Order: sequence, then C-alpha cells, then structure tokens
Amino acid sequence: MFFNTNPEQTKRFLEDTSNLRTGHTPGVYFPENREDIRQLLEEAAGTSRRLVIAGNGTGTTGGRIPFGDYVVSMEKLNRIGKIQQTSERHATITVEAGALLEDIQRATEAEGWLYPPDPTEKLCFIGSTIANNSSGARTYKYGPTRNHVSRISVALASGEILDIPRGRHIADQDGLFHIPLESGQTIDLRIPAYNMPPVRKHNAGYYSAPGMDLIDLFIGSEGTLGIILDADLELMPQPEKIIALLVYFPALDNLFSFLAEAMEKKGRIHPRALEMFEHNALGFLRNVYPDIPNAAGALFIEQETTAENEDTVLEAWLELMETHHTLTDDSWVALDKGEQADMKEFRHALPVQVNEWLSRQQESKVSTDMAVPLDAFRELVNFYRNRCEEQGFHYIIFGHAGDGHVHLNILPKNHDEFLAAKQLYIELVDKVIDLHGTLSAEHGIGKLKSPYLERMFGKEGIMEMVRIKKTLDPTLMLNVGNLIAEEYLTTS
Ligand SMILES: Cc1cc2nc3c(=O)[nH]c(=O)nc-3n(C[C@H](O)[C@H](O)[C@H](O)COP(=O)(O)OP(=O)(O)OC[C@H]3O[C@@H](n4cnc5c(N)ncnc54)[C@H](O)[C@@H]3O)c2cc1C
Repeated sequence: MFFNTNPEQTKRFLEDTSNLRTGHTPGVYFPENREDIRQLLEEAAGTSRRLVIAGNGTGTTGGRIPFGDYVVSMEKLNRIGKIQQTSERHATITVEAGALLEDIQRATEAEGWLYPPDPTEKLCFIGSTIANNSSGARTYKYGPTRNHVSRISVALASGEILDIPRGRHIADQDGLFHIPLESGQTIDLRIPAYNMPPVRKHNAGYYSAPGMDLIDLFIGSEGTLGIILDADLELMPQPEKIIALLVYFPALDNLFSFLAEAMEKKGRIHPRALEMFEHNALGFLRNVYPDIPNAAGALFIEQETTAENEDTVLEAWLELMETHHTLTDDSWVALDKGEQADMKEFRHALPVQVNEWLSRQQESKVSTDMAVPLDAFRELVNFYRNRCEEQGFHYIIFGHAGDGHVHLNILPKNHDEFLAAKQLYIELVDKVIDLHGTLSAEHGIGKLKSPYLERMFGKEGIMEMVRIKKTLDPTLMLNVGNLIAEEYLTTS
C-alpha cells in the first residue's frame, strides 16, 4: 500500500469545500483493498495513530480534513460491479466506497436503471454519500441515500470487518444490538436514547429509532464508527420520461401558495423534485445566465411521466402556474434530455458560483443546512430574510423547498461581518430548534458544526453518541472531531 509523506503531493487532502485552512497531516495512505485497510487499522491501534477517512473532498463541513491525523484515501477502492437484475422492476449493484457517484450513475443509466440519490455535486465518492446519508433534489420523492442502500461492509477501528445486509441486525425490544464479530466475540450496543426531529430530512447525529436496523447507525455516522468499504445499492427502472420546469414568481406569496398546492399531489401533479431559488440567489446566477428575469423567486420542478401522459401532466402544471400568477412567459419548460441537462447545469451553477466567489475572498461564508417541519418552512425563510436584511448582509437562499430545507449562505464582505454572521448563525440554530427542526438536513455536522450539536440534543444526547463511538472505537482512532466535538470524547 502506497504511503505518501510529500507535503506538495498530499496538500490536496488538507481541504474540502468548508474553507477550513489549517489542516495538516504526517502522511496519506492509499489502500487498494479491504486487507490493506484491515492492516492499516491494526497498525494504527498498535501505535495509537488517529486516522481521517478521505473521500473526494467535496464535503462542506471539514469532515475529511486532518488536524495532525494520518489520512486514509479511499480513491483506489473504486470498483463498480455488474448490475444484478432481480425482477422486472428491481436490480442491485455492488460498488466500492471510492467509486465516483457520477460513474455509478452513468453505468446504471446506460442500462436503463435509476439510482435515486442525486446530490447536486456528482464528483463525490459513494462511500462518502453513505457516510453522510447525502440527499438531492429527488429526495423529495425517494428519500435520502439510506433508503437505497441494502448492504454495507464496514471496517471497525479494531480491524474487524462487519458485513451488514439490511434486515440482519435489528435492535431488540430493549433497544439492543448484539453484533457478532469475526473474532467470535459479540458487541452489545444500545441504540441512542433520544428522539429525532419530525422533519423530512435529518442528518445530524447518529440515527435512532425503535426497532432500527444496524445499517442505519452506520449510514450518516460520518466515518466516526468505521470505514465503509463497499455497498449494495438498490436500483429501479429509469422513468420513461421526465418533465422539468423552472418557474419564476413575481412575489414569494405566489411561490409559497404554488408550492403548497404542488405538494398536495392532486390529480396529475406528482413532483419528484421541488427546489427553490430566492431573489438574491437568482441575482447571483445572473452572472452566468443574464436572461434571468427580475423575480422574487423561482422553483425548479421535476415530474416523471410517460409518452402517454406527458401532455396532460404538462397541462396540469401550466394550469397551476396560471392559478398562482407565475411569470409564465419567462419560465422554462424542458421536455428532452438535452434541455434537462442544461437546466440541471443551471441548478448546479449556484453552489459552484458561490464556491468560486468565496475562493477569491478573504472571509468564509456562513451557511446553514437546516430543515424544519413543512408547516414551519415559510416562517423559517422569512426569519432568514428578515434577520439578514436587518444586518445588511449579502446573502442567498436556495434549496430543497419540498423538504422544508433551504440553504442560507451569508457572504461576508469583511471580518467584522464574518463575526456578526457567526453570531447570527447561533440565533438561527436556536430558531430552527424552536421550530422542531434539525441542525443538518444533508451535509452532516463534520468539524465545522460539531460545537452546535449540543444545542439540539443537549449534553445528554451528545453523551449518548459518545457512548456509541467509544463502544465501536474505544481508542478514538477514526474521524475524531467529526460530528462529536473532541472535548466530549476526551473529558468523559
Ligand atoms: C457544489 C456542491 C454541491 C453539493 N450538493 C450536495 C447535495 O445536493 N446534497 C448533499 O447531500 N451534499 C451535497 N454536497 C456535499 C458533498 O458533496 C457531500 O457531502 C458528499 O457526500 C461528500 O463526498 P466526498 O467524496 O467529496 O467526501 P469528503 O468531503 O472527502 O468526505 C466527507 C465525509 O465523509 C467521510 N468519508 C468519506 N469516505 C468514507 C468512507 N468510505 N467511510 C466512512 N466515512 C467516509 C469523510 O471522513 C468525511 O467526514 C455538495 C457539495 C458541493 C461542493
């Protein structure tokens, strides 16, 4: 296994898209198979080394950034297996953790299959998307990554490898897992004793639910409980056709009333994606798309159709647009794959533009990834807007309106504004928690947001996570500082 200590060649592992800039590492390992990983973990246990698992560095929370830890790059474990069809409407594919999501989507689509999770960023590793339970626009219809993973194998800090097919390890009536290891020992592990918030998307802290499956504890655990090695993904047939629309609104009132009706899924209206761009986000995009009208906001919509019902579905959307007085002449309907790819490019352009803008600034953005129950969504958007306007911040709001989840990005012009935005962030977190929402809906907590998790779960909740972490990783080797701030691990 290659081990690289050359700072010039390994500096790319000191960053992701969080703008944390103080990472450092003694070196980077490049395992090529599960035996390499087992050996690496056993050696690390013997020498008290800490390891950080690196995906492709598109994470937004500093999760893969080492602070003195050795890095384990997953990039050489990138094999994609053959699609196994099990029925007319179901297939699976086995992939290694370092396979690129984009390559998996290309391989499955070429054979007529759909892997539903679709984070806007496609240049991420599948293992990271499982470790982060990533989501995307289609999550509105299909749910997050966890709904589409039927098996994982995980290397624990001890070097033992667990194969976890969904359905094999279910928490018993007392909330206990009894996990048999290769060595013949058994780990008894109680599920976390806290409730998860009543939101459609939630990715902050370890999953917990009565009678839960062990696979769901590892999915979304941000590499703190083990290294995901490979996984079986569930596939469904590609829809025959898709309609995509980009609808502009003269006022946010129209946007919210349209959204509410679209979500009732009445008649022929059954969206699979409902994504929002608020006025300032459209302004940002106008740098690349000068024809964007002066609108209060826009919704990106997708619905799966067939050749038979495409016309009537489109008619239903046009009627809805008329009822809610949208800027119909400026709106954009994409019926073929080429136009739809252009529209997706439009959607992706926003975070890319923001990241490019930030890379030229001295200050980092302050951004939220929080979600609230749907009945509190409008209140949240208004709160974000009002508080940012009051403080004179440059900000944008965009994201997954159908899931009660938008990203607010505050773009500070100087350090004083950055500090003020960080202060406001705490107020926003408390507001979201008051509304029974979650600190992270999809990007995870990483290192950037771990100091705030106690506001959501209380110290007791964090200590539940510490208990689980220490049962599976007693020497504190893997991704320390991710999700659980380090002081909770070292002071308990
Ligand atoms: C422009 C842009 C748009 C984005 N859009 C979305 C979006 O729509 N939805 C969304 O959910 N996210 C989105 N993201 C965030 C990001 O793409 C995801 O979090 C993604 O899962 C990160 O993948 P990566 O391979 O780049 O991981 P990295 O950044 O390298 O790592 C992310 C975390 O995963 C851990 N990890 C990596 N591999 C493993 C493994 N095999 N086992 C255990 N832990 C592991 C790392 O230690 C780290 O904590 C976006 C990011 C950008 C830059």
